[in-house]
Formats: sequence, C-alpha cells, structure tokens
Amino acid sequence: MFESLSERLGGVFERLTKQGALSEDDVRTALREVRVALLEADVSLPVARDFVARVQEKATGQSVTRSVTPGQQVVKIVNDELTATLRGEGDPGALKIDSPPAPILMVGLQGGGKTTTTAKIAKRLAERERKRVLMASLDTNRPAAMEQLAILGQQIGVDTLPIVPGETPVQIARRAKAQAALAGYDVYMLDTAGRLSIDEELMAQVEAVRDVASPRETLLVVDGLTGQDAVTTAENFDERIGITGVVLTRMDGDGRGGAALSMRAVTGKPIRFVGTGEKLDALETFEPERIAGRILGMGDIVALVEKAQETIEAEQAERMMKRFQKGQFNMNDLRMQIEQMQKMGGMESVMGMMPGMAKMSKQVAEAGLDDRLLKRQLALISSMTKQERANPGILQASRKKRIARGAGLEVSQLNQLLKMHRQMSDMMKKMGRMKGGMLRQAMRG
Ligand code: GDP
Repeated sequence: MFESLSERLGGVFERLTKQGALSEDDVRTALREVRVALLEADVSLPVARDFVARVQEKATGQSVTRSVTPGQQVVKIVNDELTATLRGEGDPGALKIDSPPAPILMVGLQGGGKTTTTAKIAKRLAERERKRVLMASLDTNRPAAMEQLAILGQQIGVDTLPIVPGETPVQIARRAKAQAALAGYDVYMLDTAGRLSIDEELMAQVEAVRDVASPRETLLVVDGLTGQDAVTTAENFDERIGITGVVLTRMDGDGRGGAALSMRAVTGKPIRFVGTGEKLDALETFEPERIAGRILGMGDIVALVEKAQETIEAEQAERMMKRFQKGQFNMNDLRMQIEQMQKMGGMESVMGMMPGMAKMSKQVAEAGLDDRLLKRQLALISSMTKQERANPGILQASRKKRIARGAGLEVSQLNQLLKMHRQMSDMMKKMGRMKGGMLRQAMRG
C-alpha cells in the first residue's frame, strides 16, 4: 500500500554524506517526502504546506546525532511537531459536566455515527464516572433513529426520554431538560437530527435546540474516513453552532488520520474521542501520539522516536556540559533547562523532589514562581534574536524594551531573567573549575 515515510526518507538520505548539522537542502529534500506522506494521509494541502514550513524552520541547523540517521532525525522532528499540533489543551476525555443536570449537545451529519457515539459516551459516563445519564433523540424526521437510541439505551442500561409522537425537536429538548432536573440526572444528552449534507433548515433547528439547552459541551461527531469533508463540516458547524470538541469515528478503518490534523489546524477545536468500532465500548480518548504515528504510517515510529530522543538528549547533555565547563552558558541553554523543568512537572514539583527543598517548593508556589513564571521566561527568550540568545551580554536598554514588549511583559521581568542567567552562569563556571566533577554529577544526578 503506502510506502512508509521512514523508507522514503531512508532512500533520500542514503545519498547524503553525514555532516554535523541538517542543512537547509537536506531538510527540504526530506520534507518533500513528508509532504507527500501527509497528503496521502488525507491532510489538506494548505495545512500540509503550513506544517512543512514550520518543520523546515525547526529542523534546519539542528545537529545530527551520532546514532540516528538524518532521515530518522527528520522523522522525529516531524513526529514531535505532529503530536504538538494535534494536542489540544487539557485532558480531551474530561467533559464539562459539573452542575447537574449538565446538557451535552451531539451534532453532526447523518451516518457519521452520532447516535452510536451518544450511547458510547453515555456508557462511559455511567460506568467510569458513575453518572446518571438521560439520553434523548431529537430526530423527529426519522422515527427509526429515535427507536435506535432507545434500543441502545436498553443495551447499555442508560435511560432514554420516552418518545412522544408529534413533538418538535425544541419541545423534546425542553422536556429532556425538565425531566433531567426533576429526576435528578447528572447529565442529559441531546442527539440532534442529522442530514446528508449541511442545510439551512438543519442548522436553524440545531441552533434553536442549543438556545433552549445552553449545552456545557457541544460535540461534533464526524466520520474520520471522510477526510477533507469532515473538516468542512466542522468549520460549518463551529461557525453556526459553536462546538467544544470533535469526535472522529471509524478510526478503526484504514483512514490514515490526516483528517485529525487538518481538523485541529483549521478549526482549532480539540479532538476529544475517537470511535474505533461498532461496539458500544469502542470509544477511546484521543491520543495525539497514536494519530501522529498513524499519519507517518509506520509501526516502529514510537520505538524509533524514543531511541532518537534518548540519543539526542544524551548527546545534548554531553555537549552542554563541555560548554559549561568553559564557562559558556547562554540563553539557549537556559531555555533548554527551563523546558526540561516543564517536562518534569514544573519548578514546584522538581524542587519538591529534592531533599531539603520541599519547604522552598511551597514558597515558590506561594510567591507565584510557578509554571507561569517558566512560561514568561520562555516568552522572553523567544523574543530575543539569535545573537542576543547566544550572548545576552550585548543587550542595551532599547533592545530590552523591545524584547519585553515582544513578550508582552515588563523590562523588570526581563532583568530578573538576566539576573538569574548570570547567577546560573557564575555557578556553572565555579562548578566547572572543580575539574568538571561536580557539574558532571549535577547533570547526571
Ligand atoms: P448517525 O446517523 O450519525 O446517528 O450514525 P449512526 O450512529 O447510526 O452510525 C452509522 C453506522 O456507523 C452504524 O452502523 C454504526 O454502527 C457505525 N459506526 C459508528 N461509529 C463507528 C466507529 O467508530 N467505527 C465503525 N466501524 N463503525 C461505526
């Protein structure tokens, strides 16, 4: 079927001799293949183009590590960027269902899997979160669809609102709301009618239902196999109704996951769940790493990326250590340290792990020196130029103002960062003079 991306890249890089760093041309050649792979995975052209441009910028000039090939390294960079792009904020599976009865509005086109997904989510909430859930079908045009939800409800042991012939969707929504409040349900789910394509009547109807229910979550259910169409559907629904998340169904099929990337890039809405089969427990919380691996189209991507990651980190540490011993510690190093700290769960948690630092970690948290500070510091470093990062000593007052403004912060906050950098740099020098022993220990420890 598809030639895997790593195979493609392997071929490209065989002809290249290994140099110290990924050159612009190497990266461009490799990224042509990446672009083809993305398009084959059903990512839309503008999204693929944009994505490749971002990777090009990140990859060019990166030093090539000894134990991975340049092709593998590009794949890793691509994988990391894919994962980052796919990831929304927070936990995708955590629905906002506090303050009962919490309404969840389910929207989407007919055949996308809306009714099935409604039941899947209801089952999950009932079983995993012990919620009392009420489901209601608003598909007044298709009595069979209303029956279908009732049958699914029986299968999973979740209540459905009794069907009253002749009611309008808005009337059903009102009745569901009243019933949910009266009978003490935690959540009520409204399964709206679908159409084969988006039309004005459907949108007006969903809008009216939305206004009655004021949903806490509005989830769009789309068929993940429909690629670009799914993205267009999401754009339309979001514009008109406002969605809080997307469920991609049929991800058990041979779709390559590209719709997920386009979806995130175009709508900015988080993907919350993926449907992986017809059975009612075939619903998974969205995991960006999995979809990234799928888009890249290779089973061994995870192992490969982990290996590359380890190697890159070890080599980076080694290089950094050598430079620190010579008393070179610039803003790029500081940035790396801060990012490392973020990865480990932020300043408070890192300090909390060190003996004797637990008390200080509390003070850090109380003084507001937490992750927000780390984010601010990164923002400041990002708005420096390359030269400034390499040699922060050159910063003049006017540049400082510009940098602070660029990061949306005060000059005093930049001065704080510079002071911290000087202190760390002095400390590194001192440790370096002790024949590197202490520094080596500190970095390995
Ligand atoms: P609706 O018209 O949007 O409500 O769609 P339905 O919920 O009736 O689903 C249409 C068909 O798709 C049914 O046969 C479902 O069993 C099937 N379906 C729904 N979700 C999935 C999924 O994640 N994977 C697979 N393979 N089939 C699904």
